[in-house]
Amino acid sequence: MNIGNNNEERHPRRIAVLGSTGSMGTQALEVIALHPDLLQLEVIAANSSADLLIEQAKKYHPNIVVVVQEAAYKIVKEALAEEDVKVFCGEESLCDVCEMDCVDMVLSCIVGIAGLRPAYRAVACGMPLAIANKETLVVAGELIMRTAKEHNAPVLPVDSEHSAIFQCLAGEQYNPVEKLIITASGGAFRGFTKEQLEQVTLKDALKHPNWSMGPKVTIDSASLMNKGLEVIEAKWLFNMPLEKIDVLVHPQSVIHSMVQFEDGSVKAQLGVPDMRLPIQYALAYPLRLPLPYERLDFTKYSNLTFEKPDRNVFPCLDMAYRASAAGGGMPCVMNAANEKAVRLFMDGKIKFTDIPRIIKQALASAPSVKPNNIEDYIALDEETKSRVQG
Ligand code: MG
Repeated sequence: MNIGNNNEERHPRRIAVLGSTGSMGTQALEVIALHPDLLQLEVIAANSSADLLIEQAKKYHPNIVVVVQEAAYKIVKEALAEEDVKVFCGEESLCDVCEMDCVDMVLSCIVGIAGLRPAYRAVACGMPLAIANKETLVVAGELIMRTAKEHNAPVLPVDSEHSAIFQCLAGEQYNPVEKLIITASGGAFRGFTKEQLEQVTLKDALKHPNWSMGPKVTIDSASLMNKGLEVIEAKWLFNMPLEKIDVLVHPQSVIHSMVQFEDGSVKAQLGVPDMRLPIQYALAYPLRLPLPYERLDFTKYSNLTFEKPDRNVFPCLDMAYRASAAGGGMPCVMNAANEKAVRLFMDGKIKFTDIPRIIKQALASAPSVKPNNIEDYIALDEETKSRVQG
């Protein structure tokens, strides 16, 4: 996992960016282009955003483009006919690129359960996996981490909170951790009462106070489900029991998370809220490369504040703790119900406060199955989504 300082690895680290047209994916391409000597864009892949994929292929010159949806594939294939690039179609191709010899690291920025199969294929062949797709670890964390360990595949966090914890843990491998403290901005509705929350609109939910992210994660931030998903992610990534993972609301989003050690010392990672930093840290790990963006000006942040999350107004957070403690298929059911509920909310079919109600119902009526492999998880996800109605 060295770059630039290892004789065996003379070429730049070749990256496959899955989900390149989303918010994280576009920022990843920008970061990779900053360091042509060390990082190389080998693959870009997207579900159906043909126009942006074509633009990215022409601008960044990857060697391979993957389009999942066939209609979009035809458009991309034709538009890139004159370019020196291979264009592949379908979900299977998305998984195949995770095993290619021409790829040194997979960055998964796919949104939702669609990230599960490619992530599994990557770790099962020992491919380093930088993971921005939360659902993979939320749904199948045990299986993914066990498989990664068996095949010596490093799993590198990209989510800002987990990157912060990962950075705080550097050099501490022999020192037991007392507590992980995951910070939360509190989302668009911090401080709202239950009654106020009844009235909010999609437009309100899409206004994140600090971070620039895609719509799904911004809505999850507003419901605090995002923090719940991140607690589960942290449990798997850092092999940490739930009792040792705390959530702390920190509205300025300057401290991106913290680690408390057995001597009471707390390490925090701070920075301007900009996803390009955690993306680059994962892609270039273990190196820190220059990043020519805004620096933290402490005089502008003279008042860093902290508060407890309101678990009563935002019940999704505790639902995530309980689903993870229950284990088996419950995190998968919770995630599927949330994905479907967020979709219904975005389509104007339900109210914001229906999201936790729908998830609660789905968990209460979940089948008691224990998924054993990726296909079991995907079947449970589909079954749950078909069961969930507005
Ligand atoms: Mg996050």
